Amino acid sequence: PEKIKYSVVIPVYNEEENIPILYERLSTVLDGMDGRSEIIFVDDGSSDKTWELIEEISSEDTGVRAISFARNFGHQIAITAGINNSSGEAVITMDADLQDPPEVIPDLVEKWKQDYEIVYAVRKKRKGENFIKRGLAWLFYRFINRISSVDIPLDVGDFRLMDRKVVNVLKNLDEHYRF
Ligand code: UDP
Ligand code: MG
Repeated sequence: PEKIKYSVVIPVYNEEENIPILYERLSTVLDGMDGRSEIIFVDDGSSDKTWELIEEISSEDTGVRAISFARNFGHQIAITAGINNSSGEAVITMDADLQDPPEVIPDLVEKWKQDYEIVYAVRKKRKGENFIKRGLAWLFYRFINRISSVDIPLDVGDFRLMDRKVVNVLKNLDEHYRF
C-alpha cells in the first residue's frame, strides 16, 4: 500500500461531544490533501462515550486508528503514545476540543513543503476560555521564557507539525514531561 504521508495525533479525554464534528471536519481536510493520511486518536481513560465513538469510527474507516489507555495518564503522555505509533512523513498533533481548527492543517503542510521541520500554529484568540485562564496562559508563556534558557514560541499550544526526522529524535528522549 501507499506509504502514509500525514499522521494526525489527537489525545482525547471525555470529548464525546466534539469527536463527530472533529472527525467530519478533519476527514474533509485530509481527503483534499496530496497523500495518504492516518488519524490516531488516543483515548486517555475517558469516562464518557469517547472510546465507543472512536472505536466505531476506526472500524469503519481504515485511515483511523484508536488507542485506549486503561486510566487517565494526562495529555502529554497521550500525545507521546500517539506519536510513537505514527508512521507519517509529517506528524501533526492537535487537540480534540475544536480549539485547533483542522482547516489550518494545509497551511502547516505548506510550510513543511518549504522544508521547515517544525511548524507551530499560534493562537490569536483563546475562544471559550474566561479571562482568568487567558490571563494565566498569557503569563505562563512569558514567565517560562524568562526563566528558561530555551526559547518557547509565545502562545503556541500543541497544534503543530513535525517532520519524521524530528519525531525520531523526540522518540529517543524518554522524559515523561514533554513540555
Ligand atoms: N486531554 C487528555 N488527557 C487529559 C486532559 C486532556 O488527553 O487528562 C486532551 C483533551 O481531550 C484535548 C487536549 O488533551 O484534546 C487538550 O486538553 P484541554 O483542552 O483540556 O487543554 P487546554 O486547551 O486547556 O490546553
Ligand atoms: Mg482546550
